[in-house]
Amino acid sequence: MIAGNWKMNTTVSEATELVKAMRAGLDQIDNVDKVICPPFISLASVGELIKGSSIKLGAQNVYFAEKGAYTGEISPLMLADQCEFVIIGHSERRQYFNETGEIVNKKIVAALKVGLKPILCIGERLEENEAGRTEEVVSEQLRSSLAEIAYLNSLVIAYEPVWAIGTGRSATGKQANEIIGLIRRNTAKLYDKEIARNMRILYGGSVTADNTAEFINQPEIDGALVGGASLKATEFLSIVRQTSEIKK
Ligand code: PEP
Repeated sequence: MIAGNWKMNTTVSEATELVKAMRAGLDQIDNVDKVICPPFISLASVGELIKGSSIKLGAQNVYFAEKGAYTGEISPLMLADQCEFVIIGHSERRQYFNETGEIVNKKIVAALKVGLKPILCIGERLEENEAGRTEEVVSEQLRSSLAEIAYLNSLVIAYEPVWAIGTGRSATGKQANEIIGLIRRNTAKLYDKEIARNMRILYGGSVTADNTAEFINQPEIDGALVGGASLKATEFLSIVRQTSEIKK
């Protein structure tokens, strides 16, 4: 799976131009799940443009309540008929909007309840990495995010070291593979081996067309969550094409 997180970029007309530029190329590739996650305000128009294609749509966030007096929030029910995936717990949400493990857990429960497929983001901060605490932090984020969740069938996890997001400084393929292996082993302990084996775990953090192969060639890595490079149609297409070739 290659998922593009457009973050808070593109007006509605820019979003439609961007999707038009990548639509035909992406649709030709059939052995990779391609997911694009535009801002909420563009979900409907982008959704219309990819209707009938193999491209899937995701949102970048969701609130956990079904409806009510939560000014400015978007509920899982509102998203369920607009898109298939939703990014939950992105480090930018944890950092700038104070999302805790408990909130992330509530959002995952709420998304699964209405049939949305969460892309759960976990990853350590620079100081945690430098203190040698990566494994501990990632294991704890996984545990708290999935607390009391019985079924994981449609969950995707993205391992995104915070120091690698938007910095141009990616992890190495080997580092990412190691931590993703750990996430898979922990998932097997929390659930079972079958679930862990089938779960897609992506790497995210400064993935570009130039370093895609380094990650996709790793045995534990099932794809990538791409931020900046997903805003350039030719680069995103190249990432998806390379992934398709490697996974053939
Ligand atoms: C992201 O937004 O999840 C991300 C990984 O961003 P970037 O690829 O720009 O580092």
